[in-house]
Amino acid sequence: MASFFFSGSSSRAIRQAHASLSSTPASALLPRRQIVRSIHIFRDVAPLRSHRRALLLDGQSVGLVPTMGALHHGHISLVRAAAAENSKVFVSIYVNPTQFGVHEDLDSYPKTWDSDLHQLQQLDDELNKDGKGRIEAVFAPTTKVMYPTLPPDSTLPGVGSFVTITPIASVLEGKSRPVFFRGVATVCMKLFNIVEADRVYFGQKDVQQTVVIKRMVQDFHIDTQVRIVPTEREPDGLAMSSRNVYLGERRHRVGLVLSKALRAAENAYNMGRTNRDEILAFAWDVINRMSMEQETLEKTERALFEVDYISLADPDTLAEVETVDPRRGAILSGAIKMLPLEEGTGREKLGLGEDKVPVRLIDNIPLQAI
Ligand code: AMP
Repeated sequence: MASFFFSGSSSRAIRQAHASLSSTPASALLPRRQIVRSIHIFRDVAPLRSHRRALLLDGQSVGLVPTMGALHHGHISLVRAAAAENSKVFVSIYVNPTQFGVHEDLDSYPKTWDSDLHQLQQLDDELNKDGKGRIEAVFAPTTKVMYPTLPPDSTLPGVGSFVTITPIASVLEGKSRPVFFRGVATVCMKLFNIVEADRVYFGQKDVQQTVVIKRMVQDFHIDTQVRIVPTEREPDGLAMSSRNVYLGERRHRVGLVLSKALRAAENAYNMGRTNRDEILAFAWDVINRMSMEQETLEKTERALFEVDYISLADPDTLAEVETVDPRRGAILSGAIKMLPLEEGTGREKLGLGEDKVPVRLIDNIPLQAI
């Protein structure tokens, strides 16, 4: 079994001493006898860098998985992908304030540090048995570390050092969340500079993020390879997301409308349709039916939602397409907002915050090039 400790040195001897003497909350959870290896926890840049340098000199390859914590199977699949092709995996856990707009609730973002570490530790045990790459470190910086000279600013144009990728960052998700991709690109640039990973891992779930990151890596000549990992879903098809904990059973069931709508449109493409209106009509049909059904139900039975967008876009530019070129494929994507429940029944399973928190769901399906 692995353990965690906060690391300021890359010396293995000091590491082991730390591991047995440390009284950090995470390591305190573990029986000392079973400790065979430690996962470093870095909060600062300098110790991480010197550790990274030692790995480089030792000929190890490093994969980085950036996350905001609240880890679920989607994140875990990224770590697995990283461990399959790198000897060492770094996972960053940082809820980045500059990607939350001033009216978006940064404080309500779920934070589950102990559970996150526990999941990583279990996965590392498994990787050890499989003889794969291992989880070497968690980078969990403070905001002062990530934004060393000026406090993070989420306003536009804002004060600070930012990375902007236009126009990709202004469409789809960027339309309703204008600072989002500036924040994402900025924090990823920082993480890439700090970790200097051979490969970085992102989920297909956030397709626009993958396009922004690929463009940033290309345009700024960042020496890393971007890997995209397929979306992990619940057995019923809902794309896994840290925010799903806010969905009780009723909103979860109704929220499935998004993945079902995209699936219907994908089937239309697979059956040979390439025209935008024809393909998207299948998605809208699923959405409109569900929407009408909910409106006829009692407040104690329904879950209302609003559609932000349903898109059919080019895979590289995310510009909307009128016709899908089967040699290029396309991205079908959508976003809906699950509104708070109007009235509970007292019997149903509620989500975190008793289903009073609005939840934005996003999902996408790549239409494969043939
Ligand atoms: P987040 O913590 O939400 O910023 O996500 C961190 C990384 O996990 C991003 O690259 C996401 O795209 C990826 N991710 C989130 N949900 C999923 C999922 N259901 N399947 C695969 N990757 C995911």
